[in-house]
Amino acid sequence: MAWFKKSRKPMESTPAKASKIPEGLWVKCPGCSQAIYNKELVASLHVCPKCGHHFRIGAVDRLRLLLDGGRFVEQDAGLASVDPLKFVDTKPYVERLRSTRQATGTRDAVISATGEIDGQPCIVAAMEYAFIGGSMGVVVGEKITRAIERAIDLRLPVVIVSCSGGARMMEGALSLMQMAKITAALARLDRARLPYISVLTDPTTGGVTASFAMLGDLNIAEPRALIGFAGPRVIEQTIRQKLPDGFQRSEFLLDHGMIDMVVDRRELKDTLARALRFMYVAPELSAAAVADTESAGVR
Ligand SMILES: [Zn+2]
Repeated sequence: MAWFKKSRKPMESTPAKASKIPEGLWVKCPGCSQAIYNKELVASLHVCPKCGHHFRIGAVDRLRLLLDGGRFVEQDAGLASVDPLKFVDTKPYVERLRSTRQATGTRDAVISATGEIDGQPCIVAAMEYAFIGGSMGVVVGEKITRAIERAIDLRLPVVIVSCSGGARMMEGALSLMQMAKITAALARLDRARLPYISVLTDPTTGGVTASFAMLGDLNIAEPRALIGFAGPRVIEQTIRQKLPDGFQRSEFLLDHGMIDMVVDRRELKDTLARALRFMYVAPELSAAAVADTESAGVR
């Protein structure tokens, strides 16, 4: 028997008055609680003009803001997960995939593309958090691996923008294997002497942090991004200690040597362009190309 019983019906909610302001015109900033005009927010690349809070952005927006003229050619767009484990949690995984694909308009949690950053051709992959928490399943692993292999073939640098809750549990061990697969591909990229820049955005956690997100020749994070492996609650319970302020945020990780730079989104493209110019030698100037022409007797 229940201890309490509701004898009266709950109060009916008063119907909301029709607002004269159209939906989505103003956005409230979680950083400073001020209302920001949506157009102003878009113009400042989804960074609060008042307090610098970085709003989360999707993969397509990310590629548009990084690549020249917002132009890019998507690669491996056809890859889609087939639910190898026939996994069911609160709903079947196939069902979840179908509804997420409809809602986001992408087939999985990463978009890989070719494009140019300040005139510098490169391979860029950006993760989509709206797709099951940006989780890394077989498709994400395969697309990123192919992107790296394409970079090796074309002798281009790689930029990966992470935004992920970690490995996709609906694909079990198969998603964990992607960590090793991508890492092996990055080792080949390294042997080919091509640069890889990792951009960590809010949030980058779990198996993504534990593999490719931390393996950049240069690891750049956006301000105040949550970056870690396990969440703070799990760590607190394990070590039975209170964690310091700002733990697992970009600035804390920079102070402790986990990442190389914290860069405002509005300066990210320029920073990447500068880094790529410093780290990368275009194929026609590379030592291999010089050696080739020498061996062919051409001077
Ligand atoms: Zn703000």
